[in-house]
Amino acid sequence: MSGVYKPVTSGIVKHMGGGKTLVAGAGGFIGGHLVEYLNEHGAESLVAVDVKPLDDWYRIHGFAEVRVLDLRELDACRQAVEGCTTVYNLAADMGGMGFIENNKALCMLSSLINTHLLMAAREVGAERYFFASSACVYNATKQQDPDNHGLKEADAYPALPEDGYGWEKLFSERMCRHFDEDFGLVCRVARYHNVYGPHGTWAGGREKAPAALCRKVIEAKLSGEHEIEIWGDGEQTRSFTYIDDCLFGTTAIMNSHVDFPINLGSSEMVSINQLVDIIENIAGIKTRRSYDLDAPLGVRGRSSDNALIEQELGWSPSIGLREGLEKTYAWIHDQIVGQVPSRA
Ligand code: NAD
Repeated sequence: MSGVYKPVTSGIVKHMGGGKTLVAGAGGFIGGHLVEYLNEHGAESLVAVDVKPLDDWYRIHGFAEVRVLDLRELDACRQAVEGCTTVYNLAADMGGMGFIENNKALCMLSSLINTHLLMAAREVGAERYFFASSACVYNATKQQDPDNHGLKEADAYPALPEDGYGWEKLFSERMCRHFDEDFGLVCRVARYHNVYGPHGTWAGGREKAPAALCRKVIEAKLSGEHEIEIWGDGEQTRSFTYIDDCLFGTTAIMNSHVDFPINLGSSEMVSINQLVDIIENIAGIKTRRSYDLDAPLGVRGRSSDNALIEQELGWSPSIGLREGLEKTYAWIHDQIVGQVPSRA
């Protein structure tokens, strides 16, 4: 471990590396937040890269060097990492269950992004590399009960991850591990569990459950019809991680000694019906719910076991679901009624 990184238990996440910091996927939800967070916490010379045209980025930060590149290409990765000592890989072709169940090949192609970024980071002599993995790596047979007691890191093996997206994440986790072991590129991997918050996808087919359900309840309220459709019977369970916890955890893991994939997720598990109850309460309405039992569902029960992150970092996500949903609901409401442009 490089001595220039401060221990995470102090809560200090300031980057001390000296060179530039690349955020790949900076036009997306978490990447867009991360660029701002790193800037606020002292990172100098930030490079923000995404494949999307600039008009489609959720946020563009004037203080960062902004570049549009397709990181599936090795040459593009070489351009992106030029002069960088720190690389955060948040770039992936992904979305909620509706997207990943119907686009498995596209999801698998994200392995090119991580592989080529690792190669380019090694060539340029980068010091640290972060990969955003997912709870979708976990073995499906351990997620059949809605009363899930929390997935431990070891539950990823024997491997039976989510088809397509989960296999890509598991493969890329291992790629990071071997670049670390064989080439000395310090790699850190977090397994995110359902991250949500403002400035993310809330419509169009790639949105995840919290944003989709906020949108449905808001539209039901605005239309006066008070009806929403829920995918499945609503008894499937998940835990949801507010973006601020995700940002602190991401930088904490990056700056830590933790050289194995670790959960970054809330352990506050709810059913989808309970999630809707909270959103309705925020909206101040009750809806009539219809259930689409043929919709893409994913696993029956999933939550994060946080014993390891508490042991290793002395910290785990703590922002309550109600608090995070209030902020997310307010932001999506503003997008729908058109009072605020979607880019900050
Ligand atoms: P997002 O879709 O908002 O952001 C991903 C970004 O990557 C997008 O802006 C996309 O344009 C970009 N990208 C895709 N292909 C690219 C390419 N070839 N070159 C450059 N950029 C490319 O998703 P997000 O929610 O911000 O997720 C960020 C990371 O975290 C992803 O790796 C995702 O798999 C992982 N993750 C997210 C969640 C979650 O709940 N949001 C959960 C688990 C893991």
